[in-house]
Amino acid sequence: MRVLVVEDEVSMAASLRLGLEAEGYVVDVVHDGAEGLARALEFSFDAMVLDIMLPGLNGFLVARRLRAAGETVPILMLTAKDGDLDQAEALDTGADDFLSKPFSYPVLLARLRALIRRGSTSQSALFTIGDLRIDMSKHRCWRGEDEIVLTAKEFSLLAYLAHREGRIVTRDELLFHVWDGMDGFATNVVEVYIGYLRRKIDGPFGRSSIETVRGSGYRLVASDG
Ligand code: CA
Repeated sequence: MRVLVVEDEVSMAASLRLGLEAEGYVVDVVHDGAEGLARALEFSFDAMVLDIMLPGLNGFLVARRLRAAGETVPILMLTAKDGDLDQAEALDTGADDFLSKPFSYPVLLARLRALIRRGSTSQSALFTIGDLRIDMSKHRCWRGEDEIVLTAKEFSLLAYLAHREGRIVTRDELLFHVWDGMDGFATNVVEVYIGYLRRKIDGPFGRSSIETVRGSGYRLVASDG
């Protein structure tokens, strides 16, 4: 999952980056509202953390212009403590949720997970795809009763596919949402990691839940053997 953070306070932005990266997110940080707007319009992020008081363009205007342009990226707006008016305006201008500063990281992460899964089939952090279960909050995964140990990158890849269960996900889409940056990778990094995942979640269980769609990409489907 790739998240855009628009926050002008450098230490807060750095802390957000660290906190989100520790959870497996790919994070883009910008410190200016106009730049945040441009970035959000250019790329397809899974979520956006948007401060209100920003140079260039404030968070309300960024949200309003994104929605006016038809951009549906989930927006979590950071509001001032006890800023009831800010919070109301955040929702009115197109934010999906808000969080007042100072916030706790577990709450921020839970709110982001909730926003990101809105377009998915799951109503909670526990995703069930056939007999494959994935706990997005605890980063754990099971096939039937057997827990499967995944690396952080393998989990990120599986999480992205699971949020799009049944839909084709292209290689370029995976590179953007799961890997940080387009350059410097072996061109087959996606194929390699798909292979790792299959050897853990499918092979030992006689399943084939990660389909290759020739010429298009991959699709995660229920496979109960
Ligand atoms: Ca600010």
